[in-house]
Amino acid sequence: MYWEKYSRQKIRDLVFEGIGKNLNYRDSPPIGLPASYLDPKVFYSDAPFLSEAPFMSTMVANPNHIGCHTMGDSEPVFSGTQAIEKELIEICATQIFGAEPETVDGYVASGGTEANIQSFWVLRNYFIQELGASHEEIGMVYSSDAHYSMPKGVNLLNIKSICAPVDEESRLIDLDKLENSLNDATKSGIKYFILVMNMSTTMFGSVDDMHAAIELFESLNLNFKIHVDGAYGGFIYPFSAKNELYSFQNKHVFSFSLDAHKMLMSPYGTGIVLIRKGYIEHAMTKEANYVKGKDYTLIGSRSGANAVAIWMILRAYGSDGWKAKIAELLDRSDWLCEQLNKRGISYFRHPKMNIITMKPDLIDRSLAEKYFLVPDDHDSPSWWKIVVMDHVNEGVLDHFLLDLDKTLENA
Ligand SMILES: *Cc1c(COP(=O)(O)O)cnc(C)c1O
Repeated sequence: MYWEKYSRQKIRDLVFEGIGKNLNYRDSPPIGLPASYLDPKVFYSDAPFLSEAPFMSTMVANPNHIGCHTMGDSEPVFSGTQAIEKELIEICATQIFGAEPETVDGYVASGGTEANIQSFWVLRNYFIQELGASHEEIGMVYSSDAHYSMPKGVNLLNIKSICAPVDEESRLIDLDKLENSLNDATKSGIKYFILVMNMSTTMFGSVDDMHAAIELFESLNLNFKIHVDGAYGGFIYPFSAKNELYSFQNKHVFSFSLDAHKMLMSPYGTGIVLIRKGYIEHAMTKEANYVKGKDYTLIGSRSGANAVAIWMILRAYGSDGWKAKIAELLDRSDWLCEQLNKRGISYFRHPKMNIITMKPDLIDRSLAEKYFLVPDDHDSPSWWKIVVMDHVNEGVLDHFLLDLDKTLENA
């Protein structure tokens, strides 16, 4: 895994170069394009700080990245910033997820939800268009700890769902129960499976055992492809763990989703979807005639500034810088776990993740509320989670532990 870290000056220059290659609404007013010329009274482009603010400048320039830019044609008027998005997708595919160069398509989606649903949509249409499947013959398999965008996707795409229960302690899928559900599914006529693997669940930071899942699906001779939901862990797990199964080197892996607006701390609207080349065509809307190169995405119009924001963060750290940052967060998570051990607090934690999810017995509700711990269920919490991010530093954790000790003394 390697991508170069750029200086602040170089990042600025490259973003401005990208904007410069795009059509500038103000210099050459487009009459035909319904391009969003931002209101010049509110968003004036000569604000002095903009010359040193590449992200804000891209916002004001307002390029529309409609469509998918890793394949086919694209709107030529925004080619400068589209090239930045293309480089971003290639870095994620090849350096984070081990793909060979130019073997993955993708785009910057509105978030993890859209990235997941886009992948399901392409895969469902592949099953229908290439293998002659009907809707009733397609099932999506996911763990009961998976994000709610799975049932949302099942509902939108009119396919069947198979939700696999997990073990209460390990948070791993109960394979015996899953085997039974898969046999039932086969009996009820499901022939094609979208297997969702969590590269960290939102609540626990648990990572599904992909090896075991593949073994089970192969032993049952099922026709399946894997989508990895990396919306939470995509910018963590590949940097902390070596697991080739969670990469494009694994032939069963069809697609990944990532969210830059979680761990990468970019603005909202920065999901990423990565799909093996040769498939996204199944989501082409051929009626999208006014879009140069047609549209292969769920979203339609979208801001090029989002792609620029993610690219800037990745370039500001470089792969080594990002690895070091994740290592530091995991060290701090280790330390917090030791402190909880000393106090007899039970919790779940995956050793390569920065989420610590505590059992509620010894956690006072007012303490949880004071520190904005997130419950699994707001009405009756069975778990409270802590996410160790930059701002959850030693000082904040010390305060939390002091308060925790007070509640433990009073209990
Ligand atoms: C947050 C999250 C999503 C959904 O992401 P949005 O950006 O909120 O749409 C999907 N899966 C997982 C595991 C997540 O943590």
